[in-house]
Amino acid sequence: AEEVGGGDKEVVREYFNSTGFERWRKIYGETDEVNRVQKDIRVGHAKTVEKTMLMLTEERSLAGVTVCDAGCGTGLLSIPLAKEGAIVSASDISAAMAEQQLGGENLPRFEVTDLESLSGKYNTVVCLDVLIHYPQNKADGMIAHLASLAEKRVILSFAPKTFYYDILKRIGELFPGPSKATRAYLHAEADVERALRKVGWKISKRGLITTQFYFSRLIEAVPM
Ligand code: SAM
Repeated sequence: AEEVGGGDKEVVREYFNSTGFERWRKIYGETDEVNRVQKDIRVGHAKTVEKTMLMLTEERSLAGVTVCDAGCGTGLLSIPLAKEGAIVSASDISAAMAEQQLGGENLPRFEVTDLESLSGKYNTVVCLDVLIHYPQNKADGMIAHLASLAEKRVILSFAPKTFYYDILKRIGELFPGPSKATRAYLHAEADVERALRKVGWKISKRGLITTQFYFSRLIEAVPM
């Protein structure tokens, strides 16, 4: 299997424009042609989206709030955000991932771009399950950049580096199926917290989503 050598963006982009697109479209979609592990990941990911929506709406309405969905994939978060009235800017490094579901009236504005190249200011910046493609040394810069785009809050999810999960990953169950084209990188919560603190942000809410094969730490950060 190829690796995201040192977090090579080109490899990730290439992967998500080809085999990765097919794999993730299946996992994120509704078809039955998924194996048990992929089905489990689908359920876990749906829980992450649901928890994110709760975090985003529990204090106030999203109506008119600008939200940047960085690495939006097939739009599984962008669409419910737009339905809640948020002004959504969705982007993804892969054209294939996003083009299939976004578009049409009253839907998120979509752009093909890597998150490092995003600019502008948004009330809220969300980035779900993207950091898994990058080692912590790359993730630090990505986190700092995402925080620089946000005025009020940043919501991130990542695969937590814990003992149990490390073992699971090592025995190779996490990325199932014939195409294990990219590596999965785990992140210690303390490292993510440190990266945020360095740029003046602190964690204000935490959630943990686990199914049998899917683990995701969800955090909300606000300016210190
Ligand atoms: N956030 C979406 C969700 O939760 O439904 C998609 C998650 S999917 C596991 C990871 C996504 O990150 C893919 O669509 C991939 O193309 C995108 N991605 C990877 N590296 C990226 C980068 N540097 N900038 C923007 N998007 C990136």
